[in-house]
Amino acid sequence: MSGSAAQPAGAVPSPPTAHGDGGGGAAWAWACAAEAAATGAGGAALGWGIGWLLHPAVGVAAGAVAGANGLVSGWRGIYHWRSGRGVRAFLLDSTWATLPVAGGLVAHLVAVVSRRAGYEASLSHRQGRHVYRSGAQLKRGFALTIGNVISGAGDVDNARRRKLITDHEAVHVGQARCFGPLYPLTYVLWTAFGAVAGCVLWVRRGRSEPLGKVVESCSYYLNPYEWWAYSRDGLWPPPGLVRGIGWRKPAVRSFADRREHRERGH
Ligand SMILES: [Zn+2]
Repeated sequence: MSGSAAQPAGAVPSPPTAHGDGGGGAAWAWACAAEAAATGAGGAALGWGIGWLLHPAVGVAAGAVAGANGLVSGWRGIYHWRSGRGVRAFLLDSTWATLPVAGGLVAHLVAVVSRRAGYEASLSHRQGRHVYRSGAQLKRGFALTIGNVISGAGDVDNARRRKLITDHEAVHVGQARCFGPLYPLTYVLWTAFGAVAGCVLWVRRGRSEPLGKVVESCSYYLNPYEWWAYSRDGLWPPPGLVRGIGWRKPAVRSFADRREHRERGH
């Protein structure tokens, strides 16, 4: 999860229409449907097979989640089948990461119910994620990532907002795939313990800062998953973090820095 106020930046070109969302033409629709069917069937088989090893009921649940994810993700063509990364994303979403992916299905449902979710194909197609401009949100102006679904992306025609999706929220999508069921569990645990620690720290620091800011710093910004994501976005320390609390240096190199080095040929 993350939020960021849109900062002044240049506009980016308007997104192309893509797969499953008005690309146009019967052949195109058939291609979408075929990919949806194949990805859904493959996901269901994988989820069922892996889950069954734990318990038949887990197999049924994991198969249903992975199958549903395969249908919607195949229809929209989010997996980049020609890259190892794309195939790995599908395999993980259909097995180890079915718990966060199940949360993502709920975000899809919220998007369907809210109607004006604004699916953003330009940030989703073959990029291993679903991006909605609106949809499921906990806090106004804040993007919310659950599994492979990013909601509340906002005005992604704004370059800064777009970078928030590609360089921060996308990191959370990767974290969910990497840590699977442990990701939502440890994220929520950190949030709870961080809130308690924030209260203690607020007292120890002489109650001079707003309590909410100190609690937010400990429970949200210092969460290692957020530290990692803000660092990738080149925004560590973030402006909302109370000074003198927590990690001083970025956890990892920023994507912008990596891109720059690649362009220079290093
Ligand atoms: Zn975040």
